Amino acid sequence: MNLSPLTHIADNHQKVMQTIEQACHTHHRNPEQVTLLAVSKRHSVESIREALAIGQHHFGENYLNEAIEKQEQLSHTEIIWHYIGSIQSNKTRKIAEHFDWVHTVETLKVAQRLSNQRLDSQAPLNICLQINIDDEPTKSGLPNDESTIITIAEQINQLPNITLRGLMCIPAPKPNKAAEIKTFSRMQSLFQTLQSRGIDIDTLSMGMSNDLDSAIECGATIVRVGTAIFGQRPD
Ligand SMILES: *Cc1c(COP(=O)(O)O)cnc(C)c1O
Repeated sequence: MNLSPLTHIADNHQKVMQTIEQACHTHHRNPEQVTLLAVSKRHSVESIREALAIGQHHFGENYLNEAIEKQEQLSHTEIIWHYIGSIQSNKTRKIAEHFDWVHTVETLKVAQRLSNQRLDSQAPLNICLQINIDDEPTKSGLPNDESTIITIAEQINQLPNITLRGLMCIPAPKPNKAAEIKTFSRMQSLFQTLQSRGIDIDTLSMGMSNDLDSAIECGATIVRVGTAIFGQRPD
C-alpha cells in the first residue's frame, strides 16, 4: 500500500475516535464528555492542518518554541492549544500568553506565575495539576498524597487569572488491565475528593493510545493521543 501521510491522518483519527466511542459505549459514558487531545509535538504544521480539516480542534504541544512557531503559522484557525510539556519557571510568561490550557502544573509557584502573567485581555488559563500517580522517582508531578494535593489545589483555586480544571497523570507502563484500572481509579478518587471539598473541577486528563479504555472506564474527560493519529515522530 502506498497511502499518502495525509490519508493516514484522516484514517488514524477516525480509528482513534471509534476506539473512544466504543469505550464510552462499554462503560456507559457520554462520548461528548471525552475530548480527544491530538498530541502534535514534532509533527508538522501540515499534519496539524490535516487533522484540523477533519474536525480536530484540541492540539497538545510539549516544546514551547516549536509550539509558538506553529501557532504563528496557524493563527487564523480555531485551534485550542494545550501545553503538556515540562515547565521551567523562567518560561511561564510565554506559556501563560500562548496557550488555552496547561496540563503540567505541579507547584504553587508556577501556578502563581501563570496567573500573574496571563494577560488581562485573555480568558483565565485552564490548568490541571499533574500527579505523579505511581510515585516514580524520576517523574514530574505532585506526590500521590491526598493532603498535599488538597492543600495545593485549594491555594491554586484562589488565583485570579487561572481556572483549576482538574488533574492529569502519565502513569508508569502497566503489565495488564487490572493494574491500569488501579492507577486510574486512584486518580478518579483524588478528583472526587477535591470535588467533595467544594473545588469545582471537571477534568481528568489521562489515557493515551494503549490505555484509553481503562482511562475512560475510570472517568477520563481528556485523552491524549499522538502517534496513533500522526504516526511516528521524526527524530
Ligand atoms: C507525547 C505525549 C503524549 C502522546 O504520546 P504518543 O505516544 O505519541 O501517543 C501524551 N501525553 C503526553 C504528556 C505526552 O508528552
